[in-house]
Amino acid sequence: MLGSEKDTPQARTPTENAEQARGPATTPVGDESGRANDLGRVVGSNLFKTFGNDVQALADVSFKVEPGEFLSVVGPSGCGKSTLLRLIAGLLPRDAGELTVNGDRVSDPRQDVALMFQKPNLLPWKTSFENVMLPRELQGRVKQEDEQEAARMLGMVGLDEFVHAYPSQLSGGMQQRVAVARSLMVGAGILLLDEPFGAVDELTREKLNLELLRIQESLSLTIILITHNISEAIFLADRVLVMTPRPGRIADVLDVGLERPRTIEMTAEPAFAELEIRARKVLADYEEPS
Ligand code: ADP
Repeated sequence: MLGSEKDTPQARTPTENAEQARGPATTPVGDESGRANDLGRVVGSNLFKTFGNDVQALADVSFKVEPGEFLSVVGPSGCGKSTLLRLIAGLLPRDAGELTVNGDRVSDPRQDVALMFQKPNLLPWKTSFENVMLPRELQGRVKQEDEQEAARMLGMVGLDEFVHAYPSQLSGGMQQRVAVARSLMVGAGILLLDEPFGAVDELTREKLNLELLRIQESLSLTIILITHNISEAIFLADRVLVMTPRPGRIADVLDVGLERPRTIEMTAEPAFAELEIRARKVLADYEEPS
């Protein structure tokens, strides 16, 4: 998913980034002033998706993510979490329901969201810097400011000293940091993260999660993160959607009232434990999908 157009995200607010990055292949909803207020907002209503004739992945899923909000989606494997992200990114058509991103009805692959997966998918023959520059290169409009921006994004993920390293010279966590920097280069105000740190060890994952929160705060990003880790979902989010096994439905919505910035100590607070137990109980009520 590639995004922004003329100037650098550095010079713009996240709202302007999203406005700039809005792709042409979308159907506007509402008037211009209405849409400006919708930048960074994602709204899904009564979404359904079935693969083939009988694999119903999503059933009647509705949700709303406000600009700058962090939404986690938690649920067992196969419950339709990735399908939901792909619908939002416009990579898959929905069977029914309404879906808007930045106030635009989703009907084609979006140019104004960045999608990041569990695997970093870096090109092994390119350095960290060159991998981060890829989104701009693919857009065919590399400028000097882009190079400064790439260096800034690599600095933001703590890789100043590894700008010219190749993926094989980086740890798994560092490779994932490069992937985060690359997705920030898209210049979108909305990040969709599909188990982004699922393949790294627990301690690195905690560190990356804290970095992600810092980046979200500093760039005012809207983030939707998918995970099957309940504790991670709560730690990161303003709200958590708890999904049932297939077909994925919203079983519960947790409002995480913890202060920001989040700290590791908060995971020991009673309020955190209460949310965790509530999500576990909700999930325990459902059978595994066949
Ligand atoms: P999750 O991300 O929660 O693990 P997915 O969204 O990947 O779940 O998948 C939900 C269900 O839809 C699974 O049963 C999966 O096998 C099925 N599915 C996902 N993508 C496809 C596809 N392209 N074709 C057929 N079935 C699919």
